[in-house]
Amino acid sequence: MIYGQTDVGNVRTLNEDSFYFETTPQGYVMIVADGMGGHNGGEVASKMAVDSIREYMNQNDIFSDPEVTLRQAIKCANDAVFHAATKQAELEGMGTTLVMAVGNEKTICVANVGDSRAYLVSKNKLLQITKDHSFVNELVKKGVLTKEEAKKHPKSNIILKALGLEADVYPDIFLLEKKKTDKVLLCTDGLTGMVSDEEILEVMAQFNKKNACAELVRLAKEHGGTDNVTVVIG
Ligand code: CA
Repeated sequence: MIYGQTDVGNVRTLNEDSFYFETTPQGYVMIVADGMGGHNGGEVASKMAVDSIREYMNQNDIFSDPEVTLRQAIKCANDAVFHAATKQAELEGMGTTLVMAVGNEKTICVANVGDSRAYLVSKNKLLQITKDHSFVNELVKKGVLTKEEAKKHPKSNIILKALGLEADVYPDIFLLEKKKTDKVLLCTDGLTGMVSDEEILEVMAQFNKKNACAELVRLAKEHGGTDNVTVVIG
């Protein structure tokens, strides 16, 4: 089973995150997107990205060759958001992060653009699958900032790649083997900016998937909840 939860947080008035999940006989799909842009552009962008991937899935078999089909699905979503942003003045400059996972009991294929993350959770280990396309993560990679310093950095919300901002988008793709008992966690930075990896692992070890979603959202809000928070666990 897959569970998901989103919350506007303690400070913002709009929830610009979107998520979707689905289980089919061939496997499962999980998607999380975190929109950005003035007016309600962020909301529109993240929803449009998720909807266009769902539409792609209705017309194509996303499970046959996920490394290829994920790229195509994300390209369709990028086209949709990019064109909508160029047509309507109030949506100009809108974009969204996107992280999605397609998998079965043995393997998982993950694609991401931006700083929404995918984690693989084994019994006592939390493996961050994706690498944030963010300004602060570049500084972490160079050894200038630690991961904890990055979270509190004033430029922690600057992302270097997003869906819908340009005519083309190049997601990172990860293909992993997975044990039956492993869990997959997708989330927006409203979670990871507020809740440490140690706390996430603790919650994942202690709660079932459904309750872990609620507990992670609760913790993000308890620790400030300055951003929208979305969690999907499968
Ligand atoms: Ca966010």
